[in-house]
Amino acid sequence: MDEISSKDWLEKDFYAVLGVNKSASADEIKKSYRKLARDLHPDRNPDNREAEEKFKAASEAYDVLSDDKKRKEYDEMRSLFGSGAFRRGARSGGGSQFDPSDLFGGFTGAGAGAAGGPPGAGDRRFGGAGFSDIFSSIFSGGGPGGAGAGPATARRAPHRGRDVETEVTLDFVQAVRGTTLPLKLRSAGECDTCHGSGAKPGTTPRTCPQCQGSGLISRNQGSFSFSEPCRECQGAGTVVDEKCPECRGTGGVTKSRTINVRFPAGVADGQRIRLSGRGEPGDRGGPAGDLYVQVMVRPDDLFGRSGDDLTLTVPITIAEAVLGTDLRVPTLDAPVTLRVPPGTPSGRKLRARGKGVVRKDGPPGDLIVTVEMQVPDGVTGEAREALERFSKLTPVAGRDRLEARVRRAG
Ligand SMILES: [Zn+2]
Ligand SMILES: [Zn+2]
Repeated sequence: MDEISSKDWLEKDFYAVLGVNKSASADEIKKSYRKLARDLHPDRNPDNREAEEKFKAASEAYDVLSDDKKRKEYDEMRSLFGSGAFRRGARSGGGSQFDPSDLFGGFTGAGAGAAGGPPGAGDRRFGGAGFSDIFSSIFSGGGPGGAGAGPATARRAPHRGRDVETEVTLDFVQAVRGTTLPLKLRSAGECDTCHGSGAKPGTTPRTCPQCQGSGLISRNQGSFSFSEPCRECQGAGTVVDEKCPECRGTGGVTKSRTINVRFPAGVADGQRIRLSGRGEPGDRGGPAGDLYVQVMVRPDDLFGRSGDDLTLTVPITIAEAVLGTDLRVPTLDAPVTLRVPPGTPSGRKLRARGKGVVRKDGPPGDLIVTVEMQVPDGVTGEAREALERFSKLTPVAGRDRLEARVRRAG
């Protein structure tokens, strides 16, 4: 290899490009690549420069990783020179982290928008959900951190279903009281009509005559030869004469399912709820994946949260602080009356017991009311006179000792 290609090799993480582990079998690599090639193919993404670049990158990666000798050289070189020193290499260091936005930055809007999301969930968020599903399906089996099936057993072993991630935004009150919401999940699935072959029922795909079923065409460019996905079959290796009407020959459809998710009372902003077995179904008898729901809570314009307690700030006047008063304060249920005792300092916290988060198990939270004495900017007229009279009649405790010190020093 010459210098240009070795520098290239160091900077490029071909495993990440194909979304496979470093230990991926040839089969896994081939499978991932074919799926990518099909999805990113220029014919399917007309005038999409980003798809075109990714398509080329995938071809380049596959060219190296599909060739045992080249792959070995590539692995050796990267371990020798420490791929961690490079940004791209570092990102996939240890074969665990791979940023899907790298590959799909331009695709988040494509076919992933949810029509009719659940109440409280923005469409954009659900676009995100569909996006991650599509991502995971592209890397079925070989995804980093995936099922971890060994190279030799990858094909036959039962396969755990993919985990699915989604986000939901709850209103403040929904989060405090708990709620059940229907979540619409979208994921890429196999077409039921043609079982993924893309061929009209009753017909079968035939081996691509252009590439003899390999899905690849070799090209020469200068002294290099590289492979790229066959344009005839879009890298699939087979050609469909009569397309399946359901999926228009792609073999895949977007499936959506709606599940009801119960959010317990007191669910917090930023909390991630795991619903075991509610992800995608497994293959060949494998268990289903899990569903993760990232919860966001819209703030309320009055109430705050501190664990299971609700918080509320109530402004009071100087007179109320001095003389005491009964305050009517809102709660999430009926308003309550709170006694402000005479001589209450600003910042004092009063408690309305049991008016916070009420959980099924455990003691309920409280509503904690902070009284905040308001000092008026300025007063005029009678209020001013009253205040001046008040000032004369009410000596400040402890001030005389300070004044004595001032006199002595003067
Ligand atoms: Zn079909
Ligand atoms: Zn072909």
